[in-house]
Amino acid sequence: MTSPANGADTAVLIVAGGRGSRFGGDVPKQYRLLGGRPVLARTIEAFAAALPEAAIVVAIHPDDMARYQAALAAVPEAISARALPPAFGGATRQASVRNGLDALAHQSRKIVLIHDAARPFASVELIRTARLAALDHGAAVPCQAVTDTIKTVDAAGVIVGTPDRASLRAVQTPQAFAYDLILSAHRAAEGQELTDDGAVAERAGHRVHVFDGDPANMKITTAADLAAAEQRVAAALQDVRVGQGYDVHAFEPGDSVWLGGIAIPHTKKLLGHSDADVLMHAITDAIFGALADGDIGSHFPPSDPQWKGAASEIFLAYAAKRVRERGGMIAHIDGTVICERPKVGPYRDAIRAKLAEIMGLPIERVAIKATTSERLGFTGREEGIAALATATIRLPFGA
Ligand code: MG
Repeated sequence: MTSPANGADTAVLIVAGGRGSRFGGDVPKQYRLLGGRPVLARTIEAFAAALPEAAIVVAIHPDDMARYQAALAAVPEAISARALPPAFGGATRQASVRNGLDALAHQSRKIVLIHDAARPFASVELIRTARLAALDHGAAVPCQAVTDTIKTVDAAGVIVGTPDRASLRAVQTPQAFAYDLILSAHRAAEGQELTDDGAVAERAGHRVHVFDGDPANMKITTAADLAAAEQRVAAALQDVRVGQGYDVHAFEPGDSVWLGGIAIPHTKKLLGHSDADVLMHAITDAIFGALADGDIGSHFPPSDPQWKGAASEIFLAYAAKRVRERGGMIAHIDGTVICERPKVGPYRDAIRAKLAEIMGLPIERVAIKATTSERLGFTGREEGIAALATATIRLPFGA
């Protein structure tokens, strides 16, 4: 049975259309990785956890479709399956919200919560309080008292006023509204430039109430904010585990070997049921080891014909997903390839980049090394390649 308290009467509009120009770099802040996962993925999850029956729509920039899909892939399927198709943002935040509200028109939800994608730490309590405030008042925004003295200044940089701090508030999101009220307010405000939805409601003549915001509900705007957010995520992931992986594949006649998702030209290939990517198999097993979650053979049995010739990145992506589903992150991967030939060094950074992409990690968290066995043993005789790996993962306790 559906329940209004679970958000059956509520829609969530996450505004992710910004280009993040204050942040620097070419990836907008809402798509930057935080604890190994896009900021937006964490924001979506926060709302899905607080209001499991709410409709969720994200307003994105049309250029960010691939980034949006990557963020959605980083949340559990039970949640991503609930997201409506994205609404495309407009030239301004206000236009993005308007498009998002229009996209919700057929959802028949009484309440809408409008939230900035770059605030991933909205708590369950804050989100539920926002919904209740909208039910009570029709329009409500979370606020905090300001502790700094605020000045107004003129164009010459001269102070022209000192407003009484007691009457000032800093505004956060989620801002909460009766859906019909805020939709008509946005229609009335078309062409004006207002910086938040509370102002849109005010301009339309509505009384906008305030409720207590949360100091932890920070907005990630600068690189320093992201660093602070990383510390906070890591502080919640104190169950640190290391897993190891080991794999061997034999050579057979061929023209290239797959190592870490890169085809390296050689006079032989590796024999195996899948693409025989010995390095990727060792890394995948290291992750399963850290999770104490079986091994590559138990998740992808070689007896199952569907894995014949499979690209091993399916296995690695799955292992990385298992970590995310436990609320954790991969902190570091270290792999070693043991062979006389081919020479791995020239491909090292391409392998690191490919592996990082598959696991959704920054490349700095992936190390790849290569060594020979001084012509000793099966690797020394060039009968095959061996690979070793460790995976360090961080989980919340009790996951
Ligand atoms: Mg193998």
